[in-house]
Amino acid sequence: MTHSTRGLTQWLEQLERFCAQALSPDSLLGPYDAACERKRLAVAASFGLTGIQVALEHGGFGAPYSIKARLAQELASLDFGVSMAVINSQNVADDLSRWLPADVSKRWVPGLLSGELIGCTALTEPGAGSDFSAVTTHAVQTSDGWRLQGEKTWIINAKIADVFLVYAQTQPGTGAAGIAAFVVEAKREGFERSLDAFTSAAASSSTGGFSLQGYVARPDEMLHPPGQAFKRALESINGARVYVAAMCVGMLQASLRIAQEYGQRRQTFGQPLAQYQGWRWMLAEAAVDLEAAGALVQSAAQAIDQGNQSQDLAAKAKVFATRAAQRHLPALLHAMGAEGLRDSYPLLRHVAAAQVATLVDGSTEMLLERISKNLKKTG
Ligand SMILES: Cc1cc2nc3c(=O)[nH]c(=O)nc-3n(C[C@H](O)[C@H](O)[C@H](O)COP(=O)(O)OP(=O)(O)OC[C@H]3O[C@@H](n4cnc5c(N)ncnc54)[C@H](O)[C@@H]3O)c2cc1C
Repeated sequence: MTHSTRGLTQWLEQLERFCAQALSPDSLLGPYDAACERKRLAVAASFGLTGIQVALEHGGFGAPYSIKARLAQELASLDFGVSMAVINSQNVADDLSRWLPADVSKRWVPGLLSGELIGCTALTEPGAGSDFSAVTTHAVQTSDGWRLQGEKTWIINAKIADVFLVYAQTQPGTGAAGIAAFVVEAKREGFERSLDAFTSAAASSSTGGFSLQGYVARPDEMLHPPGQAFKRALESINGARVYVAAMCVGMLQASLRIAQEYGQRRQTFGQPLAQYQGWRWMLAEAAVDLEAAGALVQSAAQAIDQGNQSQDLAAKAKVFATRAAQRHLPALLHAMGAEGLRDSYPLLRHVAAAQVATLVDGSTEMLLERISKNLKKTG
């Protein structure tokens, strides 16, 4: 099978093989181990998962966005953190191959595709989350390139990554217009990883932070110049909203199936739980929102693939799917009684992950702002 003929069915088979090899229930229980997470991403890479969308001419698979979103969904049904880790590393390979000249991007892209290198994208700082234009990590042009100074926090894969896409301010006081993006390597002088433990929610996403102290990025390591970086970041975040929504669909789908099966088995007062209307309506409510979230995700992914305006749909898909996950995952956990809390099921992990999903790549409030601005335009 050539790269270009790989369709959704073949991708799902690859994914199944990856899950069987690297996502045993035991390996998802923790405790967090950087070496294990690195190994897991290397296995994901060996199945092509870190190059899904990367163009064929750069060694990737050139799959459409909707396939990436579907794989993100299936992976998250087992573990949101792993899904985020794989997709974020693939995004770095995609961005580098898309925006840098081939002779520069080839320093990292083959390594990212093979799993030898791991990537991450760093916008957030201790003082700038939702308000990304307020980043204070700054880049000063010098004779040898750009000298970077600042701190990034809450970055997926930062605990284990080798290649960082770092957004930094080049002209303090200019906000979005002065922001540029640089490729930063963890192995070079001036880079220091944070020792902070961060969170056990989505621990397998290896979320962490780092600081840059006089780190020098060479002139050809500027990924996006000022004036373009902010726009490019928003474009990437738009796509990210849809796959995060897809991940919520995956978590809901898996949890609904697990609760439904449990309800057939578990007897109370002489009958299976599923015989009680009060019990099964909890699942029916989840099924309604799951269907709607899935349809929104599909429309938004299709709009991206067709090059249509997708900003509004992406925001709506993420608001709806994350809210559905926040509402129904705890209900499904509850529907299983104490059994739902067992670590051998993913439900408790999914509940915490849903909270992460509402924040990353645009919080619910930021998205509602975006949707209301679009209402003004169309009203
Ligand atoms: C596990 C995890 C992984 C992450 N991975 C990455 C990553 O890979 N790269 C990266 O760059 N970032 C990452 N983030 C950071 C994430 O993007 C931010 O958490 C998000 O942008 C929100 O920023 P904040 O947490 O600083 O919240 P704040 O911006 O401080 O907001 C706090 C709360 O106030 C609300 N709020 C803020 N402003 C307004 C307003 N104007 N009106 C109404 N409500 C408002 C927000 O919605 C939020 O609920 C990650 C976060 C987590 C938790």
